[in-house]
Amino acid sequence: MMENNRSVLIIYTGGTIGMVNDPISGTLVPIDFRHISDQVPELRRFGFRLETVTFDPVIDSSEVTPEIWVRIARTIEENYEEFDGFVVLHGTDTMAYSASALSFMLQGLEKPVIFTGAQLPIGVLRTDGKENLITAIEIAAEQVDGVSVVPEVCIYFENRLLRGNRTIKYSAEHFNAFVSPNLSPLAEAGLQIRYNRNIIRYPTVRRPLSVSGKFDTGVSLLRLFPGIRQETVHAILGTSGLRGIILETYGTGNAPRNEWFLNELKSFISGGGIVLNVTQCQAGSVEMGLYETSAGLISAGVISGRDITTEAAVTKMMILLGTGLPAEKVSSLLSRPLCGEMS
Ligand code: ASP
Repeated sequence: MMENNRSVLIIYTGGTIGMVNDPISGTLVPIDFRHISDQVPELRRFGFRLETVTFDPVIDSSEVTPEIWVRIARTIEENYEEFDGFVVLHGTDTMAYSASALSFMLQGLEKPVIFTGAQLPIGVLRTDGKENLITAIEIAAEQVDGVSVVPEVCIYFENRLLRGNRTIKYSAEHFNAFVSPNLSPLAEAGLQIRYNRNIIRYPTVRRPLSVSGKFDTGVSLLRLFPGIRQETVHAILGTSGLRGIILETYGTGNAPRNEWFLNELKSFISGGGIVLNVTQCQAGSVEMGLYETSAGLISAGVISGRDITTEAAVTKMMILLGTGLPAEKVSSLLSRPLCGEMS
């Protein structure tokens, strides 16, 4: 047994990692954490102080809401002084949203918050859950001279540690379910865990952890496709209480030059709405003004989301709108990186 005084809190929210087949419905349903520790007796060999908080109820992550993000953040805040790091067990479906949200919520974070889960339940022989859990715990506890090696919100999956707000779920099938197309992994686990310390973000000013826990869900996605109708765009932009949209454009941020389309955007923006341009491509960045098909968006008042993921854009917009800051200030914060979510 490894002996040391490290401590990690495991926050179990649900997901496939802890699911079993319901004998009646035949579907996968989440169950409590005792099952996972029974399946991974190796956890005892760490010699770390490992404690668990289990959400009640545990959920399939398709049912995640901002209230769950607040519960995760508050659990970290309440236990922040007592533990060296945190592992959040979470379903893979919305893990990239939750990790993005937490990265914006936890201000002044100096300890690792590592999301992980599994594509196959931990009770299944070929499960990926054991390795994911064991390595996530090791990363959460990793320190040099008493300082955390990865003081960020990350996703550990398969053999890579990715910045949470740079990550997307790209495979519903492979163990390697997540990618971070615009940022190299923060660490790769082979025989050893190799950390890319030049990419990991370290706090420049020390301040106590604070949680920003207010969300304004008056946001929407508008994904362009050839043939999209004015009625559709008009209906989305006219949604009651809508304050901001993530406009998913083509390539480097391009959109049709139709007058009706630009007018719809202009009138939404002149009514106080915010439009953030994010590319439908998985890799690369919005570069408004590169083509004539994006120049009109600039004059309509659309903001560039550069290379932000849709998951990070949605959660960042909800949190910034939740602060109650004026639209100009929210727009200015949206257009620059707050915690490594854009290049
Ligand atoms: N539906 C599951 C969830 O997101 C999938 C998974 O965990 O991999 O909770």
